[in-house]
Amino acid sequence: MEFIFWLLFVFSAITHLVFWYIYSKNYRFATLIFDLLPYYPYLVIINSLVSLTSIIYLLMDYNFIFWMFILPGIIFPNIYLFQSFQSWKNDYKLSRLKKFWIHLVKNPDVELIAMKDWVIKPVKKPNKAIIIVRHDVDISLKRAMKMIELEAELQIPAIYFLRNNAEKFTFSEVIEVFKSQSSIYFDVGFHYETLAKTKGKIDPAIPLFKEEVEEFKKHFPITLVAGHGEKYVSQKLVRDNYLDLTEYNLKSAYRIGHDLYISEAGGKHHFIVDKKSVTFWDKLAILDDLPKGSVVQILIHADWWF
Ligand SMILES: [Zn+2]
Repeated sequence: MEFIFWLLFVFSAITHLVFWYIYSKNYRFATLIFDLLPYYPYLVIINSLVSLTSIIYLLMDYNFIFWMFILPGIIFPNIYLFQSFQSWKNDYKLSRLKKFWIHLVKNPDVELIAMKDWVIKPVKKPNKAIIIVRHDVDISLKRAMKMIELEAELQIPAIYFLRNNAEKFTFSEVIEVFKSQSSIYFDVGFHYETLAKTKGKIDPAIPLFKEEVEEFKKHFPITLVAGHGEKYVSQKLVRDNYLDLTEYNLKSAYRIGHDLYISEAGGKHHFIVDKKSVTFWDKLAILDDLPKGSVVQILIHADWWF
C-alpha cells in the first residue's frame, strides 16, 4: 500500500514540475498535450489533491511543526498555478471574443474588410476605420474550423494563413478540411516556413519557395502569404528583400499598409504585454476609439481559443 502512495506522490510531484514549466514558458508548451488546454486549472486541482492525499498518508506520524511547513508548501504553489491557468483560460474564451466582435460590428465608425479585397483596392475611408482580420493556423485545424464558424455567424471576413507542413497536421488534411468548409466569409493564404525547411539558408530557400507556392496554388487560389516564425523567421525572406513577391503575384500580410497591427502572439499568456502591461484585450479596446481613416490588422491564432 505504501508503495502505491509513494508512486502517486512521485507522479504528482513530476506533474507539478511540468505545470510550472508550462507556466514559466508562458504556456507555450501547453500545446505538447494540446487538447488539454482548457482543462489545466482542473488538472492542477486533481494533482494537488493526489499529492496531498499521498503525503498525508506517507508522513502522518510526523509532528505538527513538520506539517506547518509541508502543507502550505503544497497548497500555496497549487493555488497560484490554479489562478494563473484560470486567468489564461479566461483570456482565450471564444465567447469573450464573440462579444467583442458583436460590439465591433455594431460600431458605425468601423468597417471590416477582407485582406484580399483591401490589397486589390487599398483606399482608406475618410469617415471610417478599416479593420482586417487575419489568422495564422499553426497547430489545430479543429480550432480553426471553430473560429471560421464563429466568424460565419457574425459575417466577419477573415483570412486564414495555412502551413503546408505542420507538426500536428498534413497538407492533405489542410486541403480536405478547408475545401469542405462552406462559409463564404473566409479566404486562404500561405503560411510559409521555407527558411525553417532550409535551416536558415537563404540560397536554397528561394527555389523552394517557388516550388511550394506553385504546389499551394494548385489547391488554393492565393494572393497573400505570411511567414511563420519559430526558430527561423521565414518572413525574413520578404522583409530583407531576398524574395520579390510580385514575381509570384503575391503580397505579404506584413506589407499591406496598415497603420496599426494588433496580435496576441508572444508575451505573457502568449498575449503581447508591453512594458506598460498592455495586453491584447487592452489593445483591442483601442478599436473603440480609432481615428477615422486608419487601417488596422488584427492577428489571432485560433489554436489558443476555445
Ligand atoms: Zn505561424
